[in-house]
Amino acid sequence: MEKRFARIYVDQALCKKCGICIYVCHKKVMDPHKFINYTYECSFCKLCELYCPDFAIEVVRVNENEEEGTAAGK
Ligand code: SF4
Ligand code: SF4
Repeated sequence: MEKRFARIYVDQALCKKCGICIYVCHKKVMDPHKFINYTYECSFCKLCELYCPDFAIEVVRVNENEEEGTAAGK
């Protein structure tokens, strides 16, 4: 079965470091201080994205075999 992981973008210009995304992440993988996280632990619940008051987060599901091609893009 193909493995999938999350790529999490946080727009640092929008983020006000409130910490809500860290609080709502039940997997404890959210880190708003990084532009991009790669994590297999993310469940894609998107709570961080939904609760961010500044719409700074985008959670993208990525196929493992797509990693190299798309990682260079952003
Ligand atoms: S919830 Fe949004 S604004 Fe708050 S720390 Fe996370 S990314 Fe930044
Ligand atoms: S989508 Fe869910 S599990 Fe993934 S980082 Fe956001 S809150 Fe955490």
